[in-house]
Amino acid sequence: MRSAITEGKYVDYCKTASDDCPLCDGRKVLRKFWFWEIVENHYPYDLVSDLSHILITKRHRLCWFGRGLATLELYFRVFPTLRREDFYTICLENLNRQKTVPGHAHWHILQAD
Ligand SMILES: [Zn+2]
Repeated sequence: MRSAITEGKYVDYCKTASDDCPLCDGRKVLRKFWFWEIVENHYPYDLVSDLSHILITKRHRLCWFGRGLATLELYFRVFPTLRREDFYTICLENLNRQKTVPGHAHWHILQAD
């Protein structure tokens, strides 16, 4: 879903990146919820969207209780808010092979027509 140029930059980044989580690397926070925040995407899905952000948990790992609360907030506060505001048009979670950062809960939120 990335253009060849952006995908190339992302592949280069992955080759040189440390073992640190790329989602915890101090990205610009655009919006905060209780457990979640929307951050900029350095490697946007620019083939399919004009605006590509990432919804991530504020903390890399959450205890089981925190995961439960974060899940509740995701489905009962964050998603309803995003639907109501109608700013982003697509919300997607990559699974298995497509998920390059499996250790940090995140969703791609896009604006595309
Ligand atoms: Zn992380």
